[in-house]
Amino acid sequence: TICPQFFASCLGEGLLGKASDKGLVRIEVENLRDYATDKHQKVDDEPYGGGAGMVMKVDVWAAAIAKARADLPGARVVLLSPQGETLSDAATRWLAQNEHLVLCCGRYEGVDERVAENLVDETLSIGDYVLTGGEPAALVVIDAVARKLPGVIGRAESVETDTFAAGLKYPQYTRPPEYRGWQVPEVLLNGDH
Ligand code: SAM
Repeated sequence: TICPQFFASCLGEGLLGKASDKGLVRIEVENLRDYATDKHQKVDDEPYGGGAGMVMKVDVWAAAIAKARADLPGARVVLLSPQGETLSDAATRWLAQNEHLVLCCGRYEGVDERVAENLVDETLSIGDYVLTGGEPAALVVIDAVARKLPGVIGRAESVETDTFAAGLKYPQYTRPPEYRGWQVPEVLLNGDH
């Protein structure tokens, strides 16, 4: 990422924060600019062939990914991209089986195609829309993958009965049994559901 501060507030909160405190997940954020070689820490350049916007440089990404692979042997390296395979429940489960994930967040007009072609193991999209950067997409992946890790959600049953894991989730209710005339279905109240 070129925006490490983007992650700071989210990752310390809620179940993800607790999972980090318990040592169930460890999330480190690297600033891509640290891998730039010029004094302005430039990570982008004009696109060949013209067109709007700047393109992130393959050499800077190569240096960052090489360092990540050296530090985390066997890591699965994922480029977040609207052109990637769309994230699914099955994919989160599968990603959770990897000991190390490296999530590469693009910015600007995108990332030099040679990164996707040669440097990463896969490209992932979180849906058919375009974000300004890969950071929110990486947070979505982190959150959804962390849910699949043993111990992150207090009761494993919660994850097993999640929507998509067990078909679409049934509607849920809690007290009071009636609010403004809106009733909880009788079948749930009589203890015989
Ligand atoms: N010009 C690109 C295109 O039309 O495909 C969009 C680039 S977008 C403004 C900048 C970065 O945001 C991308 O390189 C990617 O890392 C991230 N991004 C945007 N939308 C995304 C999505 N739906 N899923 C995952 N990453 C996304």
